Amino acid sequence: LSRLTAGLSRSSASLTGGISSLFTKRKLDAATLEELEDLLIQADLGVETAMAITERIAEGRFNKQISPDEVRRILAEEVTKVLAPVAQPLVLDTGHKPHVVLVVGVNGTGKTTTIGKLAAKLSAEGRKVMLAAGDTFRAAAVEQLKIWGARTGAPVVARDTGADAAGLVFDAMQAARDAGSDVLLIDTAGRLQNRAELMAELEKVVRVIRKHDPSAPHSVLLTLDATTGQNAMNQVEIFGRTAGVTGLVMTKLDGTARGGILVAIAAKHALPVHFIGVGEGIDDLEPFTAEDFASAIAG
Ligand code: GDP
Repeated sequence: LSRLTAGLSRSSASLTGGISSLFTKRKLDAATLEELEDLLIQADLGVETAMAITERIAEGRFNKQISPDEVRRILAEEVTKVLAPVAQPLVLDTGHKPHVVLVVGVNGTGKTTTIGKLAAKLSAEGRKVMLAAGDTFRAAAVEQLKIWGARTGAPVVARDTGADAAGLVFDAMQAARDAGSDVLLIDTAGRLQNRAELMAELEKVVRVIRKHDPSAPHSVLLTLDATTGQNAMNQVEIFGRTAGVTGLVMTKLDGTARGGILVAIAAKHALPVHFIGVGEGIDDLEPFTAEDFASAIAG
């Protein structure tokens, strides 16, 4: 929580600073409300949510004075309302063995790291975890996953760079079944430079998983880098269409985060948010909670 607060508050400093200068010794009028709405939109919260918050703040207070603290309190309340329905744990006890988790996202957003952290968490809960190095395009990605495998004790199914990702994933499905794994975490490629090719590969990976187990993948997690801001919305739409995303993980909320976009995404897509990444370490994956996130944003 402390690192989330530190990261997000750095980005929301302009928001909280803006609120302070807007509402100190000023009455609530149309101009102030418009400036507030602009501030909220600049913080990536989305037009709809920005309008709803502004309206709520205006209610019964027109031409009256309102303190910056009061504005921040209402802001946190409204953001909590948007985020509470999407704050949902990742449910793995669905009776599927293995429960197949496909992890997708743009390169650099934290797929491999999130898989490593998740493997540690699930192993600690007593689950038998297997990893599949489905980003066969980048040698570094395969190596990194192997390191996480060694660190967490989870076996890693990998092939040489350039190998067919779908073929590897098929092998991993078989290996996880043979080994009696509870959870199979599958890493994937995320090079957006060649979007059509990437999406074709992802679709093929999903087909191969289904061929093996028609009920799988049971979870499709999309990692979003909190420092990217508005672009995250496009990523939700692109990967949602291709891979059928079932849940989100927002990473790097310890850095110079711009987490406001998660509010806009929640308002528009109502996708569950399972975890947040607050660092590069093995324990730096936390469950997502609406209240903590909202109060970090509101400052
Ligand atoms: P991938 O290409 O999507 O697999 O991304 P990686 O897992 O390789 O992560 C890219 C970089 O971001 C690496 O240097 C990670 O250590 C770093 N990273 C991942 N998650 C977090 C996080 O929550 N916080 C911070 N500060 N860094 C992170």
